[in-house]
Amino acid sequence: MTNVTNCPNCQTQFVVTDEQLNQHNGKVRCGHCLHVFDATKELVDVNETEVNASDDTDLANDFASVNDENEAQVSHIEDHENPQVSDEASEIVNKALLKHSQANYFETIDQKAERKGRLYKWLISIFAILLLIAAVAQSIYFWRSDITIYYPKLKPLLTQVCEKFSCSISLPKKIEFIIIDDSDMQEDAEHEGLIHFSSTLINQAGFIQTYPNIELTLTDIEDKPKLRRIFTPAEYLLEHTDVVSGLPAGAEIKVKLALTAQDEPVAGYRISVSY
Ligand SMILES: [Zn+2]
Repeated sequence: MTNVTNCPNCQTQFVVTDEQLNQHNGKVRCGHCLHVFDATKELVDVNETEVNASDDTDLANDFASVNDENEAQVSHIEDHENPQVSDEASEIVNKALLKHSQANYFETIDQKAERKGRLYKWLISIFAILLLIAAVAQSIYFWRSDITIYYPKLKPLLTQVCEKFSCSISLPKKIEFIIIDDSDMQEDAEHEGLIHFSSTLINQAGFIQTYPNIELTLTDIEDKPKLRRIFTPAEYLLEHTDVVSGLPAGAEIKVKLALTAQDEPVAGYRISVSY
């Protein structure tokens, strides 16, 4: 006789044998949801449920009677299912964690690279700034005299800084602004070969300049240079003239020079200024 019982928990129907119904007071464990119930109480009318033979086979496979062996099997499965589940779960969790940590790891690498890149940019910027400062300082050093021409107010500061670096700020030397004019050459009446020169040194610049050197060249009839001499400020300026203070802006200084021409026949001369 075919008995069919219905799991009250999951409504799955199972085929049970009489033998199974007689064991454990008819109590069985649902193979589907593991619910233990009284199979006798839950027996259903086969005709009512329209269970056919092929269904029986399938249902039987899903059924587990509550006996020691089955109990052991169930508990065995349970014991292993949970660890399996937990293993799978932990595997998933681990994978997720791994992915997460990998993501973190790559993120960290990216961040490190980014930070390195940023640091590198900073170093380059600092280096560029230092180079710029050095270039500016060097320019100031070389152009310090000229800077004082155009920015006279900076002179005290530059002088102060310059003292620390054992340099000095000399007066401007713009030779193009210095001209020599009203030159005149006369032979000394009493001393043969002695020639006197008189001239005017003019600073056309709007600032004080260093006194230039005066170069005097005596020429012969063919205008070839015969004798050349360079006079320093100390030589052509009057005694007690403050050479260090420089040639004032727009100043016109009378200059007198004397030169012995020796035996050279002098026809003419050239006079120029230089630093
Ligand atoms: Zn069930």
